[in-house]
Amino acid sequence: MADKPITVHAIINGERVSTEKQYSRENPTNPEEIVGYAPVNTKEEAISAIDAAHNAFKEWSNSSIDDRVERMKRAVQKIKDATPEISRLLSREHGKPLYDAEGEFAVSIMWMEYACSIVKDVIKDQVQEHDHGKTIITFDSVGVVSAIIPWNYPISLSTIKIAPALLTGNTMVLKPSPFAPLAVSKVIDIISSEFPPGVLNLVHGEADVGVELTSNPKVAKIAFTGGTKTAKSIMKSAADTLKNMTLELGGNDVAIVLPEFDVNDSRAMRRMVISNFLTAGQICMIAKRIYVHRSIYNSFVEKYVEAANKWIRIGDPFNPDVTIGPVNNKNQVNYVQSLIDDAASKGAEVIKLGKILNPEIFETGYFMQPTLVLGAEHHDPIVVEEQFGPTVPILPFDDENDVIKLHNQGIYGLTSSVWGEEEHAIRVARQIEAGTTMINTAAVQGLDVRFPFGGVKQSGVGREYGEEGLKSYVEMHVINIPKHLELPYIPE
Ligand code: NAD
Repeated sequence: MADKPITVHAIINGERVSTEKQYSRENPTNPEEIVGYAPVNTKEEAISAIDAAHNAFKEWSNSSIDDRVERMKRAVQKIKDATPEISRLLSREHGKPLYDAEGEFAVSIMWMEYACSIVKDVIKDQVQEHDHGKTIITFDSVGVVSAIIPWNYPISLSTIKIAPALLTGNTMVLKPSPFAPLAVSKVIDIISSEFPPGVLNLVHGEADVGVELTSNPKVAKIAFTGGTKTAKSIMKSAADTLKNMTLELGGNDVAIVLPEFDVNDSRAMRRMVISNFLTAGQICMIAKRIYVHRSIYNSFVEKYVEAANKWIRIGDPFNPDVTIGPVNNKNQVNYVQSLIDDAASKGAEVIKLGKILNPEIFETGYFMQPTLVLGAEHHDPIVVEEQFGPTVPILPFDDENDVIKLHNQGIYGLTSSVWGEEEHAIRVARQIEAGTTMINTAAVQGLDVRFPFGGVKQSGVGREYGEEGLKSYVEMHVINIPKHLELPYIPE
């Protein structure tokens, strides 16, 4: 029996707020099924949420770190208890298979617990006695944070912001994407109920609410994850009040396969396939184009297809044999298909990968059979654009310096990966302009929440995760007590 549609609310100053106007979120596996309803908040409601966060800030920023950590740990325990139920909801509204939704919860919990374990050390005062006197550096909360998140990883991309922001004494208003608003609302409901009213607020809506959250003078910081184009409007919207910003944006992550890579290493090939197609390719750090040394290109393609046909099993996210579900929304299907069609029209070969396990739902859901694109040119949209879907081009190269140059000429620099002998791969990695480079693995497989994550160039500003992910929610305040209080060169 199908689950009944649920209704989620906005949370303003600790109260669940319903609105007359709501929008529905469909199930991408079966778009006729409504998974739930979320409110369409107005600009005025966004202002109320910002005011609530602003009013709560003074007291919250003066609270003890021990108290904040205790509250966060209680929230984490409740999220753990609710994971089976909410990951099911996430799977239904998003389209990602259940194992993938549960994995998202596991990574989120790992980060929240890690942030709880290090916050005290990361923001404790630094006191230095030195030749010139004494200096104290304090780490002060920034203020009201507007958090805006995309649809692809709503639980991890919200908690990646909520945990450090609240633990360091900030208050927050968060806005999810209309393409995945339900599970994240449940999680925020849990967290917010552990904190004083106004500390964590939730509003739903589209660009008008987003514009208020990014331009309101009471907002001190913006923590945004989403597309590079949206980030550019956000920067403009925030310019009048010069807000502090962390931006985690798009990428066109390259995988460079060196000549010594062993194409018969089936585990490595499986990792490569997963790094291209996990979550149907809808992850910012998916390896979105593979460059393979020409000496192994043909055998690489042959073994890649073999590995892909084994791992890729498309169908119902609740079928335990399925590894890839539908794409999240129709626009994304159309966009990815347009890139594939463009490449095919220019003569590229498109190879379908994997098995369709549930053909009965394939045509009605937002499904796409994953594809490999061979013979595309370096400047084709399928190679230079972020496809964010289940397709990947493979291109040959002769000289690794050419691939590094091609990559570095692009506008993005989120993650990248190099596959081959470790020292050789590290030499190549050092030359790539990116926030992260993984060796012999890629995408979430090589992610470690203890280290900073973020992009360079148009892939982002600032870092999340790691100590830096906490420090991006504090301002350093230097209290200087110089031994010599006057400058000798200034005349009497
Ligand atoms: P998007 O930019 O379309 O939307 C992101 C969020 O911004 C949504 O909540 C949306 O409602 C809101 N928004 C839209 N217009 C706005 C405006 N003018 N002002 C304020 N907010 C506005 O992105 P998406 O399609 O939801 O997500 C996919 C993109 O996110 C991809 O480019 C992907 O690479 C990127 N992403 C990056 C990371 C990372 O960590 N670097 C992680 C996940 C996704």
